[in-house]
Amino acid sequence: VFITFEGGEGAGKSTQVARLARHLRERSGREVVSTREPGGSARAEEIREALLAGLAKPYGPFAEALLFTAARIDHLDRLIRPALRRGEIVLCDRFADSTRAYQGAAGGLDARTVRALERVAVGETRPDLTLILDLPPEAGLARARARAGEGAPDRFEAEALGFHARLRAGFRAIAEAEPDRCALIDAAHEPDAVEAEIRAVVEARLPS
Ligand code: C5P
Repeated sequence: VFITFEGGEGAGKSTQVARLARHLRERSGREVVSTREPGGSARAEEIREALLAGLAKPYGPFAEALLFTAARIDHLDRLIRPALRRGEIVLCDRFADSTRAYQGAAGGLDARTVRALERVAVGETRPDLTLILDLPPEAGLARARARAGEGAPDRFEAEALGFHARLRAGFRAIAEAEPDRCALIDAAHEPDAVEAEIRAVVEARLPS
């Protein structure tokens, strides 16, 4: 079973991945692997470092999408596919929908290119369920800044608000276009309430 979490900055994905992992371990007795993108394998984590290296030398959306794709291919080959073959539950913090939303909807890379890259990297390893944590960008960015303390926001969090508005619209459009795979989760609530909504969706969609 392959479950992905998606959403903009400060939506609470990593908190919810950890909570669902704990819950599924207890409930199912199966191995649960939590991982993230960009990253998740040693090589992909190196690419993550390059991508987040700073505002000084941003890549264009196409080069950026290729780097995310290279990282995704390594992550799939070394971690995700082997775990799925062993019958484990894989939870991933961001996956291909982030490329659609960040480099595509928000960054302006054309949809055909985004789709083509997704086809080569992901192939048949599509998520069984994608939880899209939805939040107004102002609220998400405020949370992300609070988390970063006085430190500078990272390369992506520093984008203009318009970027984050397009990003949210991109994620919502994915949820609307693929309702069988995706569930839109209201991430404005407290973590406990978001966790309860996620559990309800997982139980309804993926009965064990
Ligand atoms: O989810 P997390 O905050 O760890 O993501 C790291 C950064 O990479 C974020 O700032 C996110 O905006 C960015 N990102 C991106 N394009 C993707 C995936 C992540 O710009 N396809």
